[in-house]
Amino acid sequence: MTTYTDETAARTLVVESARSLFARGLTHGSTGNLSVRLADQSLLLTPTGSSLGTVTEAELSRTDVHGRHLDGPRPTKEAFLHAAFYRARPTADAVVHLHSTYAAALSARADLDPVDVLPPLTAYYAMRVGTLPLLPYHAPGDRTLEALAEETARTHHACLLANHGPVIAAATLGQAADAAEELEETAKLFFLLHGHPTRPLTPEQAAALTPIPSRRPETA
Ligand code: ZN
Repeated sequence: MTTYTDETAARTLVVESARSLFARGLTHGSTGNLSVRLADQSLLLTPTGSSLGTVTEAELSRTDVHGRHLDGPRPTKEAFLHAAFYRARPTADAVVHLHSTYAAALSARADLDPVDVLPPLTAYYAMRVGTLPLLPYHAPGDRTLEALAEETARTHHACLLANHGPVIAAATLGQAADAAEELEETAKLFFLLHGHPTRPLTPEQAAALTPIPSRRPETA
């Protein structure tokens, strides 16, 4: 059963989350987009060309899980990425995609392991994000990224798009936004530590933690 059975409450939640991310500097301009999956499996997404700082409940767009536009304004051009994550992850009812500064900077580094680009610098990063694969660069809206994102999402709830930014799915929008914020802060730590001897969590320490993005009830 989906987390979001009340569409009106879900619209309010998307708008509140969008404004909170914008107000805290995690998105800028008209970048970044959010979505939730409703009980009928349709997706509510932020629309194309909108700022997460000013988007309203009535401006949200609706698509099916294949990214086909159903009603409302036209969806974000990156709707296919959201749809790919929902198809691959039946327990995910929310997706957050940002161009947040430090994660975007990380996505342009040439010296990182594309299998997992960030070390587990903190326990909360390990619990909320875990492994972060890097997907190769594609131009905005390039649909060839869709199959790759869907394949990656089957085994990972988060990925980083090269020269672009992160995509994160979770059971709830609150969990997806928390993970996106944890990723951004950990990317910032990674740059702050550059050139300093660093001791990430050991594989044993990381493995002993319980992942946070698990299904739990949330209002709306
Ligand atoms: Zn983007």
